[in-house]
Amino acid sequence: MPRTDVLLADARLADASRRLGRTLVRRAVADAQQRVREGALAPERAAEAALAALPEAATSLRPVVNATGVLVHTNLGRAPLSPAAVEAVRAASGPTDVEFDLAGSGRRARRGRGTLAALAEAVPAAEAVHVVNNNAAALVLAATALAQGREIVISRGELVEIGDGFRLPELLASTGARLVEVGTTNRTHLDDYARVIGPDTGCLLKVHPSNFALTGFVSSVPVAQLATLGVPLVHDIGSGLLRPHPALPDEPDAATSLTAGADLVTASADKLLGGPQAGLLLGRRDLVERLRTHPLARALRVDKLTLAALEATLLGPQPPVQQGLLAGPAKLAARADALAKELTARGVAAEPVPSEARVGGGGAPGVALPSAAVALPAGLAAPLRAGRPAVVGRVHGDRLLLDLRTVPEEDDATLLGAVLAVAPGERA
Ligand SMILES: *Cc1c(COP(=O)(O)O)cnc(C)c1O
Repeated sequence: MPRTDVLLADARLADASRRLGRTLVRRAVADAQQRVREGALAPERAAEAALAALPEAATSLRPVVNATGVLVHTNLGRAPLSPAAVEAVRAASGPTDVEFDLAGSGRRARRGRGTLAALAEAVPAAEAVHVVNNNAAALVLAATALAQGREIVISRGELVEIGDGFRLPELLASTGARLVEVGTTNRTHLDDYARVIGPDTGCLLKVHPSNFALTGFVSSVPVAQLATLGVPLVHDIGSGLLRPHPALPDEPDAATSLTAGADLVTASADKLLGGPQAGLLLGRRDLVERLRTHPLARALRVDKLTLAALEATLLGPQPPVQQGLLAGPAKLAARADALAKELTARGVAAEPVPSEARVGGGGAPGVALPSAAVALPAGLAAPLRAGRPAVVGRVHGDRLLLDLRTVPEEDDATLLGAVLAVAPGERA
């Protein structure tokens, strides 16, 4: 049995200790020793095995190639950051002037002012903006500041569960606001709202049903009409589009909603906007100011890394979610052809096939995005998930589809390497 101190002294493992810390290296060494004990590993290979088992970074979170065809995949961390946002996070990771005036007074300054200015600039229809931890936090803050101990009027067609058992009505009720439900599941009219509005009304809330679509005998009241009722109107648009998007004509956006008369818009930053997890609040100056100065705001504030990534997302090049949304089907098909051809040449059973990608939990539930995939035997799904990087596709019958709309083009070589590493076939 190779001794622990001997293994830890191995130059490569000692180097890994300095990079990742001793805990992870010791754990990998102990695992390798255990496998030697079980007869599953030759003693002279223990150091190598420990080294191979080490993660690239000191986190148990593993990088994944999202080949699911679901652009905003909540279980895979929603929007991947753009390289510019990653760089911004790196720049802000040490001491930084997030709340400090370097050029002028040399004293405290407004927290995250650069990010807030970028957001305000992106949506001129907003008089003021604020950023919190996520959209759920934005709703909690709005409900608390505008309607605690009072009433929030909401349509029965918009009482949504946003995922993993989180129900918007319960979230809102937890703030101490009373929900007044109006209309029916499929139809709500302006009159339904008008009838219940009174001195106890804190706000009206319109929620975009972002993960389902009602069709048939349905009607809901547009923002422009709700805005005539003379009560603060909060519009939760969900997906975080700041302006209308050509590929998603039915998806609400902040600019249009504010122009139509919403007093406050709330949205997620890590869905279609393609940024870090954050909640955006945009709208009337007096309302944003009330929210910003509410004691609860301190508990919901975002950290400097989020502020950095959000600003780079707003100002920088198109983030991956936007690129995936706009990728041309012909280009995707050409990439699938090239990958399948390369795999076939190496003896792997691969075929290019048409596919349909989705926006995902992030919005546009009814929209299918024409796409292209590489089809592999379904038996490769598990080994690909266990690979480095892990690759997650979509199993369809006896085939595993690797959908390229959710894979940035520059990752094609990585994807090819990952498949070749696990597929039975001839090795080059
Ligand atoms: C996603 C979503 C939320 C929750 O947003 P988080 O950023 O995940 O907290 C709330 N409302 C709607 C309409 C959504 O689509």
